[in-house]
Amino acid sequence: LLFICFITFSLRINSQYCEKKENCDIDKSNYDEATNLITLNIKDAVKSYIPCKSENCSCHVNVLKRDFEPFKTGITKDMIKSLRSHGIIYQIINNKIYRQKDCNFPSRCSGVEHFIKKVLKKVKLPNMDLIINVRDYPQVYPHHGPIGPVLSFSKTKDYQDIMYPAWSFYEGGPAIKLYPTGLGRFDLLRESLKSEAEKIPWNKKKSKAFFRGSRTSDERDALVLLSRSNPELVDAQYTKNQAWKSPADTLNAEPAEEVSLEDHCKYKFLFNYRGVAASFRFKHLFLCKSLVFHVGDEWQEFFYDSLKPWVHYIPVNSKSKPEDLKILINYFKHHQDEAQEIAERGFEMIWKNLKLEDVECYWRRLLRQYGRLFKDNIKFCDIKIRPFMKCSFNLFK
Ligand code: UDP
Repeated sequence: LLFICFITFSLRINSQYCEKKENCDIDKSNYDEATNLITLNIKDAVKSYIPCKSENCSCHVNVLKRDFEPFKTGITKDMIKSLRSHGIIYQIINNKIYRQKDCNFPSRCSGVEHFIKKVLKKVKLPNMDLIINVRDYPQVYPHHGPIGPVLSFSKTKDYQDIMYPAWSFYEGGPAIKLYPTGLGRFDLLRESLKSEAEKIPWNKKKSKAFFRGSRTSDERDALVLLSRSNPELVDAQYTKNQAWKSPADTLNAEPAEEVSLEDHCKYKFLFNYRGVAASFRFKHLFLCKSLVFHVGDEWQEFFYDSLKPWVHYIPVNSKSKPEDLKILINYFKHHQDEAQEIAERGFEMIWKNLKLEDVECYWRRLLRQYGRLFKDNIKFCDIKIRPFMKCSFNLFK
């Protein structure tokens, strides 16, 4: 009787998955709930995936539409005035760009200006004021305070900032020992990572999960702890950042040496985690042609939406415990064909649709859309950055 009960129960679980799926072909003699669920997720996602069109940065354009939705009735000067302390004020007048004199992160501002100047060389934009937030954190939280068009590089669904491609595509990214002037020049990194991926094809990579970075979010702890208990499966260690004071900041261990992005390509499984906001690491990992595990889905950048879970990367719950991560990594150690296919698709997606020209194209579409919505006439220096301050704008040719 017990045996019959067990068989009936197993078939019921299996048919719960199968009744939703066509052509459900789970090997019932080798049933394992977690494993089969991963297999099904991949099959389902790949089957329903419709590739986007690469021309004109169209793969990312839905994000732009969504971000401008709250402003479809127009952007006004009053909105800009009410939020002027939430970013750096720029003005575009007669197709020239001006900025308030002070920028708290000069290389970030310079990374932003690189792209705006490129746009101005290509198209004629209407006059407009802009608030560009170059801090890590988004600024427009509709539950508190005013709503207005602040441009930020990253946000969650709770924020109404308009996302722009981060400065670090060109310059001003985190300055670590390996990149002392700050991570940037994505055009050059694309090439060097691709050539590294070609030097180390899949079967030459170590069958291990890898992460190197600082403890900008404790969501990273689970993988670091798994690495300490299972060093043959994972190499994940914390490095120092500028805020490091003692081993307490690296989860009670000495900080590890930094590892270049190119050297990440030696490993089959690469982990991405949020930091303070989205981490710049994500886009680079795909270029190694390794399998990317992306933890958490809250923090976005403008291009994240074009990458689909199970098609281009493995989505991982941010509350995963070390044991959960172990099951997931082991699955792909034992399903290398699937792992390699997802890694290839992830690489292709970024390689084709996240070139520096796509970044420039996104900036161009963003600024044109913004310009169409900007209602008021503006004059040079008619926004006071601080009360009683005289004109404090610089011209960038
Ligand atoms: N980074 C790196 N090698 C390292 C540590 C960090 O290439 O050994 C890069 C990493 O890819 C990221 C940046 O430096 O883009 C900052 O990493 P960190 O973990 O300190 O902060 P995050 O921005 O990810 O929160």
